[in-house]
Amino acid sequence: MTQLRVAVVGSGPAGIYCAAALTESDEISVDVIDRLPTPFGLVRYGVAPDHEKMKSVINTLSKVFLHDRVRFLGNVEFGRDISLSELHEHYDAVIMAHGAAIDRRLGVAGEDLPGSFSATEFVSWYSGHPDAAVDRFTLNAETVVVIGVGNVAVDVARIMSKTATQLRSTDIPDHVLDVLARSRVRDVVVVGRRGPVQAKFTTKELRELGELDDVDIVVRPEDLEIDAASELMLESNTVARRNLEIMREWSQREPQGRSRRLHLRFLLRPVSLDGEESVQSVTFARGRLDGNGNAVDTGELEQLDAQMVLRSVGYRGLAMPGLPFDEERGVIPNAAGRVMRAAEVIPGEYVAGWIKRGPSGIIGTNRGDANETVRNFFEDVSELAPQVARDPTEIIEFLGRRGVRVVDWQGWEKIDALEMATGAARDASRVKVADLERLLLASTEHRP
Ligand SMILES: Cc1cc2nc3c(=O)[nH]c(=O)nc-3n(C[C@H](O)[C@H](O)[C@H](O)COP(=O)(O)OP(=O)(O)OC[C@H]3O[C@@H](n4cnc5c(N)ncnc54)[C@H](O)[C@@H]3O)c2cc1C
Repeated sequence: MTQLRVAVVGSGPAGIYCAAALTESDEISVDVIDRLPTPFGLVRYGVAPDHEKMKSVINTLSKVFLHDRVRFLGNVEFGRDISLSELHEHYDAVIMAHGAAIDRRLGVAGEDLPGSFSATEFVSWYSGHPDAAVDRFTLNAETVVVIGVGNVAVDVARIMSKTATQLRSTDIPDHVLDVLARSRVRDVVVVGRRGPVQAKFTTKELRELGELDDVDIVVRPEDLEIDAASELMLESNTVARRNLEIMREWSQREPQGRSRRLHLRFLLRPVSLDGEESVQSVTFARGRLDGNGNAVDTGELEQLDAQMVLRSVGYRGLAMPGLPFDEERGVIPNAAGRVMRAAEVIPGEYVAGWIKRGPSGIIGTNRGDANETVRNFFEDVSELAPQVARDPTEIIEFLGRRGVRVVDWQGWEKIDALEMATGAARDASRVKVADLERLLLASTEHRP
């Protein structure tokens, strides 16, 4: 039987889990396309460098590419190097799994002042993402305000509170380590709009903040007073209950005069970022819980000095040329993974991961999500059966004619080997190459 060829756009967990599920059938071959020369999406460029155990999921994800019917086509950007109609010419079906890594905005005055950044930018920079300019951050600020109380806010606050020495053994690029070594940051203030029970962090990540070397954790007891709805929530929500217990314990701690302080504040809604040439402070409207777990303004304002602000208020997807898009939710409209346009299923087009369901869940959540999409793809297979045998070398030749330098799996393995070798010299697991040209060079030249 003629093999069915499937293009998966995005080599993050969702894309790779789709490829894995597709290999269940001998009649399908898969190309996983990514705009970067490196696979793994946010596992490589989001999961914090000091969470090495979490990052080790890369070892499992890598195995999928050892399958002889799965290829990696890196450094190929959908929408720039290849369009949807061109993908349809080369493949029998397309699965979009390009993630949702665009940050949401606060929508307040002063948001674009120098010194104000999205957490995404900071994460990309310390993760060595090729899009992040090497000199984007100087960490000259003494006080940094992080707006948002989810795990990403916790990640950025933790990285900012750690020393270069503590992060030396991770994969963090050298230029980031140099800036961290010169960092003037003394106070990191993590601020939530609602109360402590409504905060989104998971307990393990939260607890870590209280265990950082040479950092005093500061929580005000009055910030932990909760309303009836929050009390009720605690009865069924173990995570929120444990989090509150931890924060209550912290609120009793006496500061020990350590080098850095990490503050958690609640019931503060950002109103403006203030400063002439750069951020100097943030004005918040103080809130109180209204009995239903929501915050209402008290009418009081509070100003916190800060020379740097990181906004961590969520992610959204990016519309892609040729595909429908739900502007409100920031996802591709779909019915359990089948792309929908005006209530009609579009044959041969599927979606998985964050761009399918929005930015929620952990890495593992993308597995069930990808399996659902691929199950529906298998149901549709008889309608997608190809009339002609497709030659897998054609797409490579097509991209070559367009001047695209495709990085295949062997190319990635060379990058990997170079990073590991550089890491060994620093006593680290690896040291990431952040520059796109150097990545491309390593993908062709490096000999393990
Ligand atoms: C900062 C941060 C930290 C996180 N930490 C954890 C954690 O510790 N533990 C945990 O379980 N989960 C964590 N997550 C969540 C986890 O990373 C996501 O659930 C998961 O990565 C989503 O998978 P995805 O494949 O949908 O998207 P992504 O991982 O974003 O992958 C999308 C891929 O598509 C590619 N792409 C984008 N546009 C194009 C295009 N035009 N053409 C071709 N390719 C394209 C991207 O380069 C990327 O490789 C974290 C998320 C963030 C943002």
